[in-house]
This record gives sequence, C-alpha cells and structure tokens, in this order.
Amino acid sequence: MRIAIGGFLHESHSFAPRPTTYADFLNPGGLPAMQVGEALIPGLRTTSAPIAGAIGVAEAAGVELMPLAWAFANPAGPVQDEAFERLSAQICARLSDALDAGPLDGVYLDLHGAAVVESFPDAEGELLRRVRAIVGEALPLTISLDPHANLTSAMVRLADAAVPFRTYPHVDMKAAGAQAMRLLLERIARDAPWFRAFRQFDFWIPLGSQCTLMAPMADVMTERLALAERMGVAELAWCFGFPYADFPDCGPAVAAYAETQAAADSAADAFVALVAEREREFVQDTMESAEAVAEALRVGRGTVVLADTQDNPGGGGHGDTTELLSELVRQKAKGALVCLINDAESAAACHAAGVGARVELSLGGKSDGMPFPCSAVVEKLTDGVFTLTGPMGAGNPGNLGPTALISVEGVRVIVSTRKMQALDQAIIRHVGVEPSSCSVLALKSSVHFRADFGGMAERIIVAIAPGPVVADPAVLNFRHVRAEVRRRPRTV
Ligand SMILES: [Zn+2]
Repeated sequence: MRIAIGGFLHESHSFAPRPTTYADFLNPGGLPAMQVGEALIPGLRTTSAPIAGAIGVAEAAGVELMPLAWAFANPAGPVQDEAFERLSAQICARLSDALDAGPLDGVYLDLHGAAVVESFPDAEGELLRRVRAIVGEALPLTISLDPHANLTSAMVRLADAAVPFRTYPHVDMKAAGAQAMRLLLERIARDAPWFRAFRQFDFWIPLGSQCTLMAPMADVMTERLALAERMGVAELAWCFGFPYADFPDCGPAVAAYAETQAAADSAADAFVALVAEREREFVQDTMESAEAVAEALRVGRGTVVLADTQDNPGGGGHGDTTELLSELVRQKAKGALVCLINDAESAAACHAAGVGARVELSLGGKSDGMPFPCSAVVEKLTDGVFTLTGPMGAGNPGNLGPTALISVEGVRVIVSTRKMQALDQAIIRHVGVEPSSCSVLALKSSVHFRADFGGMAERIIVAIAPGPVVADPAVLNFRHVRAEVRRRPRTV
C-alpha cells in the first residue's frame, strides 16, 4: 500500500503586525524546519508534530510512505502569496512524481486549518482543491487539524475525514495524526466515503476560554467523546476556531462523519446543542498589567505566573511588547523573569557587549512602537538552541537564534532573535535559570503555558497588556466575517 504524506501548518492573524513569509517556514522557533522529500520522515518521526503520529501508524501497518513536503511557521499575519505558492508547489510536484512512480492508495495531510493566504482566505481549502485536482475526487484522503482551525465547507467536502486535536494546551498532536492515519486506512479498506455533516456556530469562543483543562471546555470535550461513542460516528471533528482571521468562515465549527447522512446530521446537531447551551460560560478572568503585577507581589510565595496573553507569539503576537516588563520594574518585582522579548537588535547588542557588561537598550516594542528604554546587565549569552522537554513538545528542537539573559533592576529578561511562545520550561532552563526559583514568571502565552507551567504555579493570572491577540476579539475591526455571528458569547 502506498500513501503520500505531507503538511502545511499556519495560524494566521489578520491583524498581526507582520505578514508570514517563505523564510518564516524555513526557520520556525518551536517546531522543526521545513522538510522536503526523503528528509521528511527521519526529520519528523521523533517530534511531537501530528505527522509523527501518522508516520508511526502507517509504518506499523507496513505502508510504503511517499513523503511530499511539510512546513510550519509560527502564527503571525496572513501568509504571503509567494510563500503559499512555493509550499503548495513542493507538495503538488512531489505528489505528481509519486503518481508517476505508481498508483497511490491514499493521501494524509498534516494541516493547521487556520491559515489565511493573501489571495486565498480559506488556504487549506485551496490546498486541498489543488491536491484533489491531481489525485482525483475518489482517492481516500484524510487530514489532521489543530482545533483552532476555522473549519470550512471546502475542507469537509475535499477530505474524507478531519481529525482535530482534543486538547488545548495541545498535548495530543501526535495522537490526532495517528487517528487521521487510522481513519485513512479504514477508509481505504471500506472502499466508500463516510457521510458528512458540517455545522458552523453563530458565536465565537475567545481564545482564553477555549482551554480544555477548565470548565466549560473540559466538560464539552468529555461530552463530545460520549456523544461520538453513543452515536457511533467515525469522527466528530470539533474545531474551536481562531477568532482573529478576517474571512467569512471564521469561528467554531463541527463536522460529523458517519455511516448514514441521518447519523451524521443528528450527531452534528446534538453537538451544536450541547455547546450552545454553555455559551454564557465562555468567559475568562483577566487583570490589567498594573493590577496583575501588584496581585502577583501580594501572593509573595512560590512562583506566580502572569500570562501575557495578548502578545502571545503562538497566536500572532510579535512577542516584544513591554508593558508587563515595565510594570515589573516599576513595582520592583525582584526575582521576576520575563520569557521572552523577541528583539534581534537588542540580542545582538548584548552579544556584542559580552557577559557582565552593562548595555543601554531600547528593548522590544518594535511591533507597536513602544520600546522599554533600560540599562541592563548581560548575565548569560546562548545560541538559542535547545530541546523542548514539556508535555507539548518534548523532543522538538527549539531555536531562538542568538539569545541573552539580562537583568534590569533585579528583573530578568530573556531576549531572543526569533519569537516563540513561552510554553516550555526548557526555554528558561537553557539560559541557566530554574523556573521554579523565580518569584514571578511573565510568560508570553495565552493557554499553552498551562501544560508545562500549570503544575508549578502558585497562582496564574491572565494579564491584559498590549498585543494583537486580544482577549476579546470583538474589539478588532473585522470586515469579512459572517454578519450573523456574535463575536463574543452572550454573557447574560
Ligand atoms: Zn492551536
């Protein structure tokens, strides 16, 4: 059996400060660099990427894998046309080559589901259209998705099944890829497609209240599983949506795959009802920066985590806004650490000055014009290369580029050349600091930090500081979303 595998992963924020370029796929921060052809399988097998799970299932089943191309870039502004055309060309050309070498039994693609390309707002739908144009309508094809996918009718129509992760923080990426490959093998064996039902929700769920570790989403996930088992569906693909993509299909959606149309429809409708009845519960506690820092200092024991949610590099932030840092310095939060400020210029200045030197920096703020001028002492310099150890990315390579640990009046800051979400304690350990020794950790992350930092935190406070990953997406100036969608859940 011959199965072609590849991937294209991007989460696009229509209002983020920087567009996503081809180069961003060549050198991402927390997942592997682009893998093409023969290098793909050895390059990805040991990572936490969904495709690694698919590879494992396929190899165990004795499948001959035809590697296409796989590329991930950190969330940022929409993907430039050039980048999408080049990545799509890599995937499609190798797919054509694979067909020249012999017939294919199926295709698996590792997709994110929330990519927006300048000319193709539904980027995954467009990529699947191109793949289908090459392999035909009938060839079995499944995809895995990030649950932040803005699932579209094109994705549901063009793939035989979609399997999103069930967790946020995403600790089951490989499991989703593995399940998508199992469904592909099942689809090949049964020789007939499943019936499908697709439903979109009429309200958005803000990012912070999508966390599956807490109510109401934890309960929704439990009920999703029970419903899928009770109704005997092959897959109940629940996507929470990424509420920063300015295109008509932005928002939560679900697809059900079943033996009959009636079964698919009733599973999808039952699921929509169980989520809709919780609409008022999708709210999040937050504090403004000054209040958040004061509250953290009031706790006065253990490590208090401040989640700098709105500048989350994993949601499209540039990872360089400085309000929380400046509040920590202003309120003399000695023993606090900021992870991280993405500022290549300042990192280079620290490397030029050397360990022990005092440097005058205009730190961060490149994305919003609000840098933090400071006099800092360089404590440590690294090449920014390390291996992730946390539940989301253990084994994945991290590469922040030249990085410095600096101290500003007792507040330490990791200054990096590339951005990465603060989702793994290894980022901090790689500069020689034990995270639990810090009084306060200001982390640029919305929810993912909870996977690795949640257990060691005395208290977690979600802080509101500048950045594009706004806690309330309704404040953004959307122009293309469906008119009937409520951009924040009803709360009364
Ligand atoms: Zn995600």
